[in-house]
Amino acid sequence: REFDDAGLHPQMRDNVRLCQYGHPTPIQSYCIPAVLTGHDVVACAQTGSGKTAAYLIPILSKLMGKARMLAAPRPNPTRYNPSTDRVRAEPLVLVVCPTRELACQIFDEARRLCYRTMLRPCVIYGGAPTKNQREQLEMGCDILIATPGRLTDFMANLNLLSFSRLKFTVIDEADELLSGGWEEAMEKIFRGSDTNEDADHTYLMFSATFPKVARRLARDYMDQDYVRIK
Ligand code: AMP
Repeated sequence: REFDDAGLHPQMRDNVRLCQYGHPTPIQSYCIPAVLTGHDVVACAQTGSGKTAAYLIPILSKLMGKARMLAAPRPNPTRYNPSTDRVRAEPLVLVVCPTRELACQIFDEARRLCYRTMLRPCVIYGGAPTKNQREQLEMGCDILIATPGRLTDFMANLNLLSFSRLKFTVIDEADELLSGGWEEAMEKIFRGSDTNEDADHTYLMFSATFPKVARRLARDYMDQDYVRIK
């Protein structure tokens, strides 16, 4: 299948063209239809396989159809005062990944794929001051890309971040996240992301290997008819 016959939103077809992705990679040709038809996905995928676009393209394409209704309200920049006006971020998509470098790469790809839409990506990670990241969130955040430590810090402040509108949760490099001492944070993130009453919350997990704890999280939180992609 080619991108043009995948049933993507017209703006997404344009954005894929702008990114100069000629043909879908194998992971993309399996993952895109699975997500478009509403399935949870567990995929075995290495960096360089095109896995980021494999989840961003179908998720963003689905949201584009409803972006006008769903996108976060933007504070008026001429009247917005970041030190007094507190606007809670209520993302539609959460992407969790282990490192700042990966988070920034995913953010860049999300920014390109969100071109000419009302959807706004934001990135938060540890090892940098929170102030600027906080202000970015307060300017409106639809797609939140985060490393686990900074994410749980932000989650602890309910005035800052709420998952009540969350529709998609992506765990990227799950094996790294679940072995590097982040197990507890990941459990917290799964529990927190599960607060949306919506039954249509989609989970996607990408990993090179599937350690026991990844399989358990998949069992506890995902639809049991999830699509497995190797
Ligand atoms: P990833 O595996 O997500 O780290 O992606 C590896 C690189 O491949 C990134 O720089 C993407 O921009 C690029 N890429 C993703 N999908 C495609 C595609 N279908 N054709 C060409 N390049 C792609």
